[in-house]
Amino acid sequence: MSVVLDQVEQKQEAGERRFEIGDLLKLMERRYGANEIADVLAAYKLAESAHDGQSRVSGEPYIFHPIAVARIVFEMNMDHRSVMAALLHDVVEDTSISCEEITAQFGEDVSVIVDGLSKLTHLKFKSRAEAQAANFQKMLLAMVDDIRVILIKLADRIHNMRTLGAMRADKRRRIARETLEVYAPIANRLGIYSMKNELEDLGFRALYPARYRVLQESVKKRSQNRQEIVQKFEILVAARLEEAGIVSTVHGREKHLYSLYQKMRSKQASLDDIFDMFAIRIVTQSVDDCYRTLGVMHNVYKPLPRSFKDYIAIPKGNGYQSLHTVLFSPMGVPIEVQIRTTEMDTFAETGVAAHWMYKEGQSNSAQQRAHQWLANLMDMQANSADTMEFYENVKVDLFPDEIYVFSPNGDIYQLPQNATPVDFAYMVHSDIGNACLTAKVNRKLAPLNSMLESGQTVEIITSPKQRPTAHWLNFVVTAKARNAIRTYLKHQSREKTVEFGRQLLVRALTRYSRSLTDIDEKAEQAVLRQLNLANLEMLYNELGLGNQIPSMVAAWLLDEGDQQADMEQAMQLSPEIDPGPLIVEGGEDAVIALAKCCMPIPGDNIQGMITAGQGVLVHRAGCRNVGRHRRRQREWVAVVWSASVKGQFQTSVIIELNNVPGALATVATAMSDMDTNIEDIRFERTNDKITVMNFILSVRDRTHLGRLIKNVRILRETHKVKRAS
Ligand code: MN
Repeated sequence: MSVVLDQVEQKQEAGERRFEIGDLLKLMERRYGANEIADVLAAYKLAESAHDGQSRVSGEPYIFHPIAVARIVFEMNMDHRSVMAALLHDVVEDTSISCEEITAQFGEDVSVIVDGLSKLTHLKFKSRAEAQAANFQKMLLAMVDDIRVILIKLADRIHNMRTLGAMRADKRRRIARETLEVYAPIANRLGIYSMKNELEDLGFRALYPARYRVLQESVKKRSQNRQEIVQKFEILVAARLEEAGIVSTVHGREKHLYSLYQKMRSKQASLDDIFDMFAIRIVTQSVDDCYRTLGVMHNVYKPLPRSFKDYIAIPKGNGYQSLHTVLFSPMGVPIEVQIRTTEMDTFAETGVAAHWMYKEGQSNSAQQRAHQWLANLMDMQANSADTMEFYENVKVDLFPDEIYVFSPNGDIYQLPQNATPVDFAYMVHSDIGNACLTAKVNRKLAPLNSMLESGQTVEIITSPKQRPTAHWLNFVVTAKARNAIRTYLKHQSREKTVEFGRQLLVRALTRYSRSLTDIDEKAEQAVLRQLNLANLEMLYNELGLGNQIPSMVAAWLLDEGDQQADMEQAMQLSPEIDPGPLIVEGGEDAVIALAKCCMPIPGDNIQGMITAGQGVLVHRAGCRNVGRHRRRQREWVAVVWSASVKGQFQTSVIIELNNVPGALATVATAMSDMDTNIEDIRFERTNDKITVMNFILSVRDRTHLGRLIKNVRILRETHKVKRAS
């Protein structure tokens, strides 16, 4: 039934001699020049000596496996470097040869593929859950940055499946299941139906040998009778199309066993109920002819209602295109008919496509994109001088910006690129995110802000005392983590604001050498009534938010109880009895914010100003706005940077550039070399000699900024540089 399997078995029965390197080189003469063949031979020689003395479970020398894989790769029309990598694919994993040696002898290109293949060997598929299988497929794809790695891996798997018989039964089942759940779907996604079908039939046979045999026998029994029907039908169809002036080829097609088996299972049907066991395919020369063919067929034979599918206008996600219909044949049985162009037919056998780019349920534009993408793909294939260039082009479309990491018990999580352990923790559960203290990446301690990579195992260490901090917002990339942190901080912020307001009032009272306990109950009620607030907590909240000025409220509270206190006195009191400055931690904070006018950074002398609705706004000591507000007698609070302040702080630097070509690029490079992000560039003014630009930069602190200014100053392109005041 399955053509390939039968061929393999026949060969084995016939005792045909092994396919050797000489056979491969001979085959290759069809497509490759002498130099390329010499390279392949050199790769073979290294593989042969590296695997010398090793043998497969079947007992045959190991080297026959890489040769067989290389043959499959060659037959997939891949480039000669892929064939070399196929010969070397198990060398790094199983022998003492290193990737460096392969690079030295065969170049970066071959060695990157071999390295990718070795990495995939370490991935182990654990769970049987369907979602896990889907993620595992994606993970495999995300872990390689060269699609040739996947294609060679598929070839490797095909050969391993063909020679599975020698394995222990439990191992055989595991590999077969992995093939059905992971590798066949990957071939399907990539649109390589020939590989998908073979992997499925091999997997089916290994996993359910009895079912496979029974189905194979019953198909054979029905085969003869049906084949005659199909042949008659083929002749009728060909004649009709010739009459209509459509150039086409018509051939009968047999479904492979696994797809019949799946159909029987999903429809709870017996083999006799699976009417489309036999089918014909009509291959035409143009899309137009496809639709004309369909028209002719539907005119002559009655179609089965609702059986028509137009995968030409709306291709399958992996790029597959064809028209499908089921016709009542004159012989009394329904026959499935596929109609497609030559290109579509080739693509269906060997195509490479990206299923996951176009998720189900998306709008027309996604379908159009899929269509467009496919058209481009065809174009590229036709125009590419070599397969290398073709795969380079496909690669861009194929690999999404996603990474896949493991939890310690082997579950796979999908995260965006640049995701950190905190993103991972929130992905697992918001309680874990909220309590994450530190992380282990591949069993080594790693900071919470380190960037994760595909294939890593991530373990989160939690502590009941740990709380999310605003600092985390500086590095998380997932919406889930960001929202959870924000929600937490918001929840905390009222509590924090209230406490902060209380502290501000305590400070203000200290200036009168009083404390909260000195406040008279009646005075308190009077002030609350006056401000239309229900309780003391609401008053603290107003103070914390800066809607009320602490010294005034303090004076008022005391004034209500003690007629002698007044504002004059408040302003004259010495600051020596101040209870100490507020600590500025940086990052997002509910009650302390950094002023946009002077953009203070750690290391600057700073002053806090109580601002309505914003709590305390921190300015640089010399800021122009400080002087202006001081005259207006606003409320001031002493502030200092926390010793443990961390993060990126924005500040503004004015640079006068000489008008020479590339000046801006040189300065920008110097900045990024210094680990500085340019957040914004504003053009200030220009004359014929210089251009003045205002750079908004992210720096760690004053020292960092100082070094940056020094490095920019010495550039030939720089006329002057200074921090904005
Ligand atoms: Mn192998």
